Amino acid sequence: MSKVILEMEEVTIRFGGLTAVDSVSMKIEEGTIRALIGPNGAGKSTIFNLITGIYPPTSGNIRFRGTPINGLKPHLITEMGIARTFQNIRLFGELTVLDNVKIGQHCRTKTGWIGALIRGPRVNREEKEITEASMEALRLMELDHKADELAKNLPYGEQRRLEIARAMASQPKLILLDEPAAGMNPQEKQTLMSMIRKIQDKGLTIFLVEHDMKFVMNLSDRIVVLDYGRKIAAGSPAEIQKNPAVIAAYLGK
Ligand code: ADP
Ligand code: MG
Repeated sequence: MSKVILEMEEVTIRFGGLTAVDSVSMKIEEGTIRALIGPNGAGKSTIFNLITGIYPPTSGNIRFRGTPINGLKPHLITEMGIARTFQNIRLFGELTVLDNVKIGQHCRTKTGWIGALIRGPRVNREEKEITEASMEALRLMELDHKADELAKNLPYGEQRRLEIARAMASQPKLILLDEPAAGMNPQEKQTLMSMIRKIQDKGLTIFLVEHDMKFVMNLSDRIVVLDYGRKIAAGSPAEIQKNPAVIAAYLGK
């Protein structure tokens, strides 16, 4: 039996009158790839925001490796080993590829990222470790040869990979990817898929939101389907493809 790395137990969040996530429960096993799918507005990104501490749940529990994390601040959750990317690209176009990865690290250190960028005298050792972790993450995403280029000059697909590299540099156990393949061409999607498998091979757990069904069906071990904040189905890719509730949610009842 594999270990559960993340558990959500009847997690609910309300924004005013809207129940964006409605009593959702799931368990994700360590080392697996889990997908979260559902129509726009279903609550997928909100689930990532709940797991990473951006919002505390209105009710319910979230446990990471057995420890309750609901209500913890985002930086503490990052330190425990959860990293993420966002649905929309969040890069500093005028900074280099390497500095974009390092910024993710400096948020977690005492000197902070401004201190690190101006390279004050106190930051030497910290700086070296951060640069090494950042370069390793860039190697994993096959962007190390572009470390000194400005982020804005990378092709779109590589910008999205750069965001994953930034998340990987914090050396997480669990990585949440919010629509990582959005806007990519088929070739870029293929490359991304093999890189996500490489991340899994390193022993990480991957939880991803994605609209491209071929991508999801090829990559995921299990899939959870959300509609109007509720979990309407869960299962293997084969089970999900023939689930009538899923088909109805997508075709619009
Ligand atoms: P998805 O990622 O599945 O497309 P979201 O999780 O972004 O959907 O949003 C789910 C619902 O919650 C939407 O109706 C959205 O407008 C609403 N929502 C998300 N965040 C907030 C917020 N901070 N305040 C109010 N409503 C929100
Ligand atoms: Mg979303």
